[in-house]
Amino acid sequence: MTSLLLTGSAELVTNDPGVGDGSPLGVLPDGAWVVEGGNVVWVGSRTEAPAADVAHDLAGRAVIPGFVDSHSHLVFAGDRAAEFTARMSGQPYSAGGIRSTVESTRAAGDELLAANLARLVTELTRQGTTTVEVKSGYGLTVIDEARCLALARQLTPETTYLGAHVVPDEYADDPAAYIDLVTGPMLDACAPYARWVDVFCEHGAFDVDAARAVLVAGRAMGLTPRIHANQLGPGPGVQLACEIGAASADHCTYLSDADVDALASADVVATLLPGVEFSTRSPYPDARRLLAAGVTVALATDCNPGSCYTTSIPLCIALAVREMAMTPAEALWSATMGGARALLRDDIGRLGVGSRADFAVLDAPSYVHLAYRPGVPLVHAVWRAGHRVV
Ligand SMILES: [Zn+2]
Repeated sequence: MTSLLLTGSAELVTNDPGVGDGSPLGVLPDGAWVVEGGNVVWVGSRTEAPAADVAHDLAGRAVIPGFVDSHSHLVFAGDRAAEFTARMSGQPYSAGGIRSTVESTRAAGDELLAANLARLVTELTRQGTTTVEVKSGYGLTVIDEARCLALARQLTPETTYLGAHVVPDEYADDPAAYIDLVTGPMLDACAPYARWVDVFCEHGAFDVDAARAVLVAGRAMGLTPRIHANQLGPGPGVQLACEIGAASADHCTYLSDADVDALASADVVATLLPGVEFSTRSPYPDARRLLAAGVTVALATDCNPGSCYTTSIPLCIALAVREMAMTPAEALWSATMGGARALLRDDIGRLGVGSRADFAVLDAPSYVHLAYRPGVPLVHAVWRAGHRVV
């Protein structure tokens, strides 16, 4: 097995508080690391680096763990630029716009869906993301949900069954029958291609009893729950996430004190998606309140054609810092380790012995530039499992 020594980083972010500056980011100035078999086998100061078969110099660039985007909806056809224009002209966002993407997705062949998905994954990889979670939710029939998940499964193991995204038009008069489908034949068809089960628990989508039924049924089929909660208004989604032991409650824009306490004590990750608030001109979640309560915060894109059509974690970091008062360090941690926690993974989101060698090299002397220089393509190279992919 060939070993590779990487040196010449201006600063290396490890997310290991036991090394470097002792902060949660574990920043090592002039850090070096050795990769073998796709994993990191040594991390430390350049002056103490062991010999390796091959050496690679990074010419003074900052290095960070690859981003872990723990929330996206990348399997769909069509776009909703017209809806975006309408919203920017003053119309409010509601859950109903999802149905237009459902129509386009059902009409699309597998080749088109796969090509769109591959294009988006290439796009996010170029921006430093090395792990992405992908949800279904634009098929909403047994066949369409299963084929969307099968396509996603070819690109990531982090696939999420979201048959309960909205009630499709054909079940508008009988939503209970749709829940029977989602918790029955559709789940049976989708479970082989999914790791997670999710539900949009929101006014206009699914109430708490329906959401609980979906998550419990998914768990019985071996899927782990996560949930879209408290996005458009206060609601029971976060409490359900805590009651059921979900890995993550996502959005968390409208929280009561009891919701914040429950997230902290149940150790459920709060995944914040500030690209959505940016793209819908909505109030941002209160990240500082969550952090003060000791809640684990993840940052993700929620990339989807309606409420947030960005694949850029660097944009989300910039928004988290500028609009949610997170520090650059907190935002980077949340977009790497926070995402890994939201996916219950300990092999990604960090650079330490035993972790996967997933990292991004920045054309900048510090990770702070991700927030300090918003909109600038700072990602110079991306490595996944020890191979340079960008
Ligand atoms: Zn979402």
